[in-house]
Amino acid sequence: MRIVVALALTATLARAAAAAGAPAREPAAWPVPPELLTRYEQSGGTETPRHAETIAYCRRLAAASPWLTYTTFGTSPQGRELPLLIADRAGLCTPEQARAAGRAVVLIQACIHAGEPDGKDAGLLLLREIAVAGRLASLLDGVTVLFIPIFNVDGHERFGPHNRINQNGPREMGWRTTARGLNLNRDHVKADAPEMQAWLRLFTAWLPDLMVDCHVTDGADYQYALTYGLELGGNLDAGLAAWARDIWLADLEAELGRRGLAIAPYVMFRKWDDPRSGLRSGVAPPRFSTSYAAAQNRPALLLETHMLKDYRARVEATRAALEVTLRVASREGRRLRALTAAADSLVASPGFRARPLPLTFRAAPDSTVVDFLGVAYDVVTSDLTGGAWIRYDASRPQIWRLPRFDRSEPHVTVDLPAAWVVPPEWDEVIARLALHGVAIRRLARETVLPVTSCRLRDARWEERPFEGRHRLTYEIETFAQERAFPAGTAVIDAGQRTARLIAHALEPAGPDAFVRWGFFDPVFEQKEYAENYVMEAKAREMLAADPALRAELAACQAADPALAASQEAILNWFYLRSPWADPRLEVYPVGRLQDPAAVPASDPVSASAAAPAGANSSAAELRQ
Ligand SMILES: [Zn+2]
Repeated sequence: MRIVVALALTATLARAAAAAGAPAREPAAWPVPPELLTRYEQSGGTETPRHAETIAYCRRLAAASPWLTYTTFGTSPQGRELPLLIADRAGLCTPEQARAAGRAVVLIQACIHAGEPDGKDAGLLLLREIAVAGRLASLLDGVTVLFIPIFNVDGHERFGPHNRINQNGPREMGWRTTARGLNLNRDHVKADAPEMQAWLRLFTAWLPDLMVDCHVTDGADYQYALTYGLELGGNLDAGLAAWARDIWLADLEAELGRRGLAIAPYVMFRKWDDPRSGLRSGVAPPRFSTSYAAAQNRPALLLETHMLKDYRARVEATRAALEVTLRVASREGRRLRALTAAADSLVASPGFRARPLPLTFRAAPDSTVVDFLGVAYDVVTSDLTGGAWIRYDASRPQIWRLPRFDRSEPHVTVDLPAAWVVPPEWDEVIARLALHGVAIRRLARETVLPVTSCRLRDARWEERPFEGRHRLTYEIETFAQERAFPAGTAVIDAGQRTARLIAHALEPAGPDAFVRWGFFDPVFEQKEYAENYVMEAKAREMLAADPALRAELAACQAADPALAASQEAILNWFYLRSPWADPRLEVYPVGRLQDPAAVPASDPVSASAAAPAGANSSAAELRQ
């Protein structure tokens, strides 16, 4: 205890010196004092600490080094702190300070899936080496590190030995989803989880220059202890993708290879249970962490240790990858910051809107042949289930020559408008956009705007929920109209750094569009109907006025037998063609302003305009 107090005093003095402008003293290398040994070390690499123990350890680390600051970036639904450890050689701990000092900001997060704690233990070890032992102090040259040891804190405390059937340790671990059952790594765009909303405030305030998200795989057996996902195209800016491939990934492969740690892209076989079918990788939608970062013009690395390797091997592999990443960031910080700034500027520029923006990608047909470090296996017919049973033998490593299909090409694309307009009654959607750091203006008065709208026809909902929502599909039919938008309507200019993300959230063709997640479901509900005896008479009046309707009805009935068989359906068919039909039924409320000249630029920004970083009333409502 006395040692902790002494360390805290040292840290306070050093922090005061740093604040006063004196150079921070590099801590001398020293043997790890007992109170700074992690549970992982004390258990011989078999255990991982609980939430409270992790926070207590983070606080002790921060007390032991002027370079570390422990803080929290929010509170979970069950009332737990979302922990954040900030590492910086001058003790900088706000985005403004880091920006003013020209730091490259690196976000490392662990336990977004709380059953996969490797990154937590690896990060704590690495930060202790950097900031307390001082052995790897140069990794913080020009770099500020944000380390989230546990993102899914409530899921983490659903702690037990039976949470990951495929996984070889630690002895006990947390659960994949939040207490409410949401997978945070599918929640980046829709942001339903309060934990994700807190994360988005952190992310948009700091806008880290690169990010690492630490996981453990499921899937096949093979030799690699560590696989990775890196968006090398897809949603990421081309300049950043080239940097990530030629510098970051090249260093990871070379340096980890020198340490005897071969890595490979995240392993997915073209047929999930047939290794010889070949390897594939694609572009994930931005509901995933790394694709989300890409949509925010930031490169991100997905680390996936192999579930069947023991916990020590996995933590060491993760630690090594994080170390190499920080070495790259410290060496390349200036260039990286220039590239992220250039990507932000490019997305905000008129030139970006001149080309179609891909919302989805599909695998290109061409492949390359690679050597894959597999293990021997045979396939037998199970006498229990009758199915194919792959039996791997990890004691017999093999090199397989496999085709790898890793090139993607755009599939669904959209032409960006000059701006989107979202009526104010869709306040939940506007608030989510603000959480993403989207700049939003508000119409000061009702304004008629020439917009492209769309009708979403033939909507169908999935029977089973996915991530707490019933997703839907529809056919998109666009049309031009003059529409009156009320005061308070959100005007969202495409000329901003988040345009790619806005398009994913607001364009109905995208897989993560808010409308696909059910945010706009009421517009699909017909709310007024005609009584049959009223409509029988009206239908006859309509036929008398327009005899062509009879042939149109017959054609529709030929295509849809249900329409021929039901009095209600036939009368509703007439109702929907009558002046009483609701013109807003199935019309997507978000309008697109195609012509930049039509964007109401001169409207004053109202006091309630949603601003980035959550400093607005809409985001404040979300916090409740
Ligand atoms: Zn995971």
